[in-house]
Amino acid sequence: MRRVFTGNSASSGMALGRVRLERPARFSIDNTPLPDAEIEAEVARLERAFAIAREDMSTLRRKLHGALAREVGEFIDAHALLLDDPELIEGLRAMIRKGHYRATAALKAQRDRLVAVFDAMDDPYLRSRGEDVDHVIARVQSALARQASSEEKKLATRVGEILVTESVAPGELAHMASHGILAVVAGSGSPYSHSAILARSLHLPMLVNADGVLEDLRDGDLALVDGVRGEVVVHPTAQDLAQFRNWQREALRDGQRLAQLAGSETHTRDGHKLHIFANAERPEDIERARTLGVAGIGLYRTEFLFLAQSGLPNEDEQFTAYRDLVLGAGGLPVTIRTLDLGADKADAAGLVMASEPNPALGVRGVRLSLRHPDVFVTQLRAILRASCYGPVRILVPMITNASDIVEVRRLLEECARDLRTAGHEIPDQFELGAMVEVPAAALNVRALLEVTDFLAIGSNDLTQYVLAADRNNDQLGKLYEPAHPAVLRLLAHVIARARGAGKRVCLCGEIAGDPAFAPVLVALGLEEFSMLPDRILGARDALAHCDRKTLRALAPRLLRARDSDEIAALIASVQSAS
Ligand code: PEP
Ligand code: MG
Repeated sequence: MRRVFTGNSASSGMALGRVRLERPARFSIDNTPLPDAEIEAEVARLERAFAIAREDMSTLRRKLHGALAREVGEFIDAHALLLDDPELIEGLRAMIRKGHYRATAALKAQRDRLVAVFDAMDDPYLRSRGEDVDHVIARVQSALARQASSEEKKLATRVGEILVTESVAPGELAHMASHGILAVVAGSGSPYSHSAILARSLHLPMLVNADGVLEDLRDGDLALVDGVRGEVVVHPTAQDLAQFRNWQREALRDGQRLAQLAGSETHTRDGHKLHIFANAERPEDIERARTLGVAGIGLYRTEFLFLAQSGLPNEDEQFTAYRDLVLGAGGLPVTIRTLDLGADKADAAGLVMASEPNPALGVRGVRLSLRHPDVFVTQLRAILRASCYGPVRILVPMITNASDIVEVRRLLEECARDLRTAGHEIPDQFELGAMVEVPAAALNVRALLEVTDFLAIGSNDLTQYVLAADRNNDQLGKLYEPAHPAVLRLLAHVIARARGAGKRVCLCGEIAGDPAFAPVLVALGLEEFSMLPDRILGARDALAHCDRKTLRALAPRLLRARDSDEIAALIASVQSAS
């Protein structure tokens, strides 16, 4: 019989599939006391389970690519820390040795104790971190179960299923999405959780806080998840299925309409040409970007090369990666950004200071690179060598003062000289640009323009620094708001100054590919946009619907707006009038 469960929509879209229940209680807990003779074997079994869980995590990390690697990587790191927590492991060993607990029961008891500690915290953010404990312990339980019965099937390998669970860790979500899970329904959680953010970026419909689903749904039930209305319909009727098919047809039509824009140039409705670049990290991204039609690679984040392995990649390894990137771009310009480790991007090589009180305001990006000239020079040499294979622009992150760029240019020139002396053919000229993502750099952009060849606006960071709102903190909700008038004023200032100086300025933060943001950026005079390949066609379509003249005329009013609602109302007024 048809039943409807409601929840909060955390990621829109619809999906029809079979329920795959993931109950927290699916691990069988053995509470019978352990005989003395089995104690050491049980400790060994527990330790093996921890080792398997650690290996699972690092396999997962290795499999992640691109933007996802970055988003998921930090959660994985947090979980890996818990798995390595000596207090946790020692406590479990003691429970087995002294309390005669079996491993499953010890884990369950530790989980309950730790979750209770988190539950008692006042700070809602810290309280929600109890979820991490749950996910980590579940991983170890699962590893223990796998030792007992080797045929435990991986959820992730199932296709056409809707995961119904109490909560899901971001790492697992990424893995499952790449193995065909169609949607997620969670009994708890919030639309601001890391998993919810990730589900949105994966276009995976997701409901959270769905009451009763774990109790009332069964494995294999046919279910329709409506991520727009926040509903799960179990045993849908013919009418529900018709509605789903309508939605599918519309989504398909949209996709087909957008596909026609592949390979075309980008123009506003009144015929002004704009330039779309790609933020690309993998060879597939570059190939896809070229098929969709781009003016070049606007951002290649090199830190992923460093995060993907333990230890630093050497000059030849980096050179090969950059050269392949440049060759893959087939003559289009490639913007290679130097290392941006620090803040939320910790590294395996130990360059990042572990104990900074305010890492986002600390030694990150170029600040870190200049502190490790040997590492930085290795990277600059590799980039310079790759620049013989096609046009390369070198971009430096987290610039605060013009003197940072002067120092980088000095190092680059030194590297070029050394490479030429060693017989390498290095082009005479290289283009050096600064990321504008620190408010001081934006306000003082005139000084920066005197020493750079181009600018790239990092609106992700600029927004967090202007609003003092951590871009990774779900608890801040709408406070992290790129459409804030203060952010827009800085963007307008940077764009106008760069254009006045006759220098190129591109925006490569997330808003560049956000169709809803396109009219605002056109109004501010932006001409170069860099975004993930998946967003190119949607953005090209949105830009094609903008009337540049009208929007440019609206700019003074946008910049006088008091808040983001006023900005949205102004944009809506010109769009409905056209
Ligand atoms: C930005 O800050 O907008 C940006 C593009 O860089 P990242 O997201 O890598 O910090
Ligand atoms: Mg940035």
